[in-house]
Amino acid sequence: MKPALLVIDMLQEFVHGRLRSPCAEGIVSNIKNLIDHAHSHGVPVIHLVDNHLPTDHELNIWGPHAIKGSPEAKIIDELTPVESDLVLFKRSYSGFRDTGLDALLRDLSVKTLFLTGIHTHICVLHTAWDAFYYGYDIYVVKDAVAAFNEEDHRYALNYMEKTYGAKLITAQEAIELIKAAATKTGSP
Ligand code: ZN
Repeated sequence: MKPALLVIDMLQEFVHGRLRSPCAEGIVSNIKNLIDHAHSHGVPVIHLVDNHLPTDHELNIWGPHAIKGSPEAKIIDELTPVESDLVLFKRSYSGFRDTGLDALLRDLSVKTLFLTGIHTHICVLHTAWDAFYYGYDIYVVKDAVAAFNEEDHRYALNYMEKTYGAKLITAQEAIELIKAAATKTGSP
């Protein structure tokens, strides 16, 4: 497997702002740990982040959030990308829609995706749907994703497992897979 680590919407808006998940702060350290391991094993880290125009359709449902150029649309300080990380901006739920993510992953020869971030039942779920549609192997890191509440979180995890064949793993298990993949591909 050639994996990439996807970090979805770990923005000020969703961790501390108007659409914050109460569980978001609890997953930051697991995501940080995964990013550190990805860096040291040559696994691409791709941030997929909301970056809305005020006219975006989705704002009719959720209200204004993560508006392009606003402080709320910034990735939280703890997960600030390094130069080698890739940041793709999105204007709807899925990290694949109008972002060029599929082409980027093909350029990187990536076949396997580790999904992290928020919210489990919205942007993580819709990114997983497109990942399935495009034929990627999907791992959802269940202690590195969060929703508004436990019910939505569990529902979405179950849905992704049953409907997209996503494997639900812990951050520690993801780290072991990253290490194993690096050994196979000869990355450091
Ligand atoms: Zn949005």
